[in-house]
Amino acid sequence: MIKKLQKRSWAEPYKMKMVELLKQTTRGQRSRAIKAAGYNTFLLKSEDVYIDLLTDSGTNAMSDRQWSALMLGDEAYAGSNSYYKLEKAVQKFLWLQIFSAHTPGRGAENILSRILIRKGDVVPGNMYFTTTRLHQELAGGTFEDIIIDEAHDPTNEFPFKGNVDLEKLTRLIKKHGAKKIPYVSIATNVNMAGGQPISMKNLKELRKFTKQHGIRIIHDMTRVAENAYFIQQREKGYEKKSVKDIVKEICSLTDGATMSAKKDALVNIGGFMATNEWDVFEEARNLVVIYEGLHTYGGLAGRDMEAIAVGIEESLNDRHQQARIGQVEYLGQQLESYGIPIVKPIGGHGVFVDAKAFLPHLTQDEFPAQTLAAELYIESGVRTMERGMVSAGRKPNGENYYPKLELVRFTIPRRVYTQAHMDVVAESAAAVFARRNKIRGLKVVYEPKYLRFFQARFERK
Ligand SMILES: *Cc1c(COP(=O)(O)O)cnc(C)c1O
Repeated sequence: MIKKLQKRSWAEPYKMKMVELLKQTTRGQRSRAIKAAGYNTFLLKSEDVYIDLLTDSGTNAMSDRQWSALMLGDEAYAGSNSYYKLEKAVQKFLWLQIFSAHTPGRGAENILSRILIRKGDVVPGNMYFTTTRLHQELAGGTFEDIIIDEAHDPTNEFPFKGNVDLEKLTRLIKKHGAKKIPYVSIATNVNMAGGQPISMKNLKELRKFTKQHGIRIIHDMTRVAENAYFIQQREKGYEKKSVKDIVKEICSLTDGATMSAKKDALVNIGGFMATNEWDVFEEARNLVVIYEGLHTYGGLAGRDMEAIAVGIEESLNDRHQQARIGQVEYLGQQLESYGIPIVKPIGGHGVFVDAKAFLPHLTQDEFPAQTLAAELYIESGVRTMERGMVSAGRKPNGENYYPKLELVRFTIPRRVYTQAHMDVVAESAAAVFARRNKIRGLKVVYEPKYLRFFQARFERK
């Protein structure tokens, strides 16, 4: 039968020049490996993994332009030419004037939190991020979640689940006074909400509101390009604007930013802080000397700054984002076509599977998400990550948190895997789904004191 032309597909805007060979293991090898890893995918050796969807952080494939930029790295201790190239890229594309402290993202968070937060301050934000919140707390502040309620509901299909609820912010100002709020912390494409965007309309309203109260907006721009792509696709008036122009507009509505370049900026390590305030810059430039290095390298090699400068520009290409987010969407649709329950809308950097709905016969104490991640690995060597009760940890009084969401995150590294890999992932998940009734839960045999999800160990019940 001849097929009728119904659609025009996208394709990756690149071709492959070098490949990394993958190792395939047998089911028996994988069963032994996951048992030895205490049924925790963080404790697997990467050589035992076939398709690695643990995280999109630092797992990107660099382009030939980035690899050749590495050779131009100026490793001078002071005044490195690579620093000025990166500064220029930040000013040109991200619209922030003064720039410093290019360390991994959490290094920039540490410095900015120390400068802006006083003991007793309140820092509102559109959902927490693990390292961001911890630095705010270590600086003496308290985080307050002001994201819209829709963000906490996995079945709600609202297109901008990263939006701020201005009512919640108004209540915080009434309660604490604007002086106690050094800034509002805004993440673009909110990681913990499942890679969900904030709309330009909401950000504009927030800008107007914070200006009236003399409060800064500090932007976690780790995934700003992915957010811009969603604005282009979903927000009225932005259909014809480029990702590059939308990113510029987002950044122009903020006062400063921290960035983990390991995500959108397409490198394996690095980050930075940028600001439009001279006083803040001066103090950051001073603090970075204590914690990392001179302000013209701040903990990074010259070659890494070169790769970030090129990566920022490449990340703003419309076709790159179309293929990047298109691939995530493709995997989400494949999973859905097998009846697998996922968080909607499909996010920017990964697909989140609802483990409670996948394994309804397990109680939350039997760790459905941890169990499902282990089963996926045994099935096919695909490595995913738990985002549920294990990640949520314990309250200060020692009781477990019981989070509403019990999710397994299939995070997609940028420019690394093909659509065929996505098919294999979806089929593997479908094979586990077909035998879901026979799956037994897990019990804890070892639990570390902090951030237990990284190192906890389990056994089958
Ligand atoms: C990864 C991440 C960070 C921390 O960055 P690192 O480079 O890993 O230190 C901060 N914010 C968000 C939203 C992130 O995803």
